[in-house]
Amino acid sequence: AAFPSACGKTNFSMLVPPAGFEGWKVTTIGDDIAWIKPRDGKLFAINPEAGYFGVAPGTNMQTNPNCMLSLNENVIFTNVALTDDGDVWWEGMEKDQGNQLPAHLIDWQGKDWTPESAKAGQKAAHPNARFTVAATNNPALDPAWDDPAGVPIDAFIFGGRRSTTVPLVTEARSWTEGVYMAATMGSETTAAAFGAQGVVRRDPFAMLPFCGYNMADYFGHWLKMGEQLKAAGAQLPAVYCVNWFRKGADGKFVWPGYGENMRVLKWIIDRAENRVAGQATMFGVAPAYGEINWTGLAFSPEQFASVTSIDAADWKAEFALHDELFTQLAQGLPAQMNQTKEAMQQRLAAMA
Ligand code: GDP
Ligand code: MN
Repeated sequence: AAFPSACGKTNFSMLVPPAGFEGWKVTTIGDDIAWIKPRDGKLFAINPEAGYFGVAPGTNMQTNPNCMLSLNENVIFTNVALTDDGDVWWEGMEKDQGNQLPAHLIDWQGKDWTPESAKAGQKAAHPNARFTVAATNNPALDPAWDDPAGVPIDAFIFGGRRSTTVPLVTEARSWTEGVYMAATMGSETTAAAFGAQGVVRRDPFAMLPFCGYNMADYFGHWLKMGEQLKAAGAQLPAVYCVNWFRKGADGKFVWPGYGENMRVLKWIIDRAENRVAGQATMFGVAPAYGEINWTGLAFSPEQFASVTSIDAADWKAEFALHDELFTQLAQGLPAQMNQTKEAMQQRLAAMA
């Protein structure tokens, strides 16, 4: 899975299956970077990292227990708050402490902090405060985490942080459509990214900070890699687009996220292994409500509709932003990108 900075990679990689998923187990290969290589007609990935460098705020025993358990010893923290007994603290930890804020802290800027400071909107930890820890601290570490042979890839998942527009999950109808979804993914800016808050910043393949050459050529690379694998008789992994971050009229996340993302992951596995049909949308194949295992979670068809619906006006505006991106990347942009967009726009028009 490739998500931009602060969009949930670490949480997803350490996911604990919720109630209703007895018998399922998630283990971590890596939480940040995959080096991918074709071999024997499949794509394999290795984790090139020795550990995790993750966002601390929001991390607690409810959102990411494996991560919290990784932080018990031998950790470097930056920009977190300090408790009076010499421990660390960040926003979100109160959930493990009976919803009680500590009476006194030294905040990330070295100043006194009390619950009154919270009321005044002052964060004790910087929103991008981080931990650095060896992978071997992770209780859910996969035995293959350090295996140079790598692990086979059965599905690619791309996703950003979007409060509107992008549905919870869709499957690309083809490799090319998957490349389109990855190329146009974006994220509303947060503290970890640069620039103004709440603006959609395109981050193709979540590679914008790392791609050392023309991004349009990078799209071409993925298209060519797909063609070469197909020519060699390989079955290409299916490609999915996810968005855990749609918000309701009250400004709150509608999808509970975190461990509950297992429900979406299970649908992805069911699709990849041909157990469910899904339903065609303008933007790929989406789950029917009844195709998701809801055991242990009260999530109504209406709530589901509000995280999966495709709003025609939103998408008209969205495609105008894709146009802007493609104009910026016009040099070397593969023709398939605009062709895929036009096919989607035609399907959108047919929806009306
Ligand atoms: P990374 O930088 O991509 O590894 O992202 P993290 O996993 O560290 O998460 C970044 C922030 O997003 C943290 O504050 C998390 O609590 C939050 N987050 C992660 N996954 C989810 C999710 O499924 N739903 C919601 N609402 N927030 C999430
Ligand atoms: Mn991370």
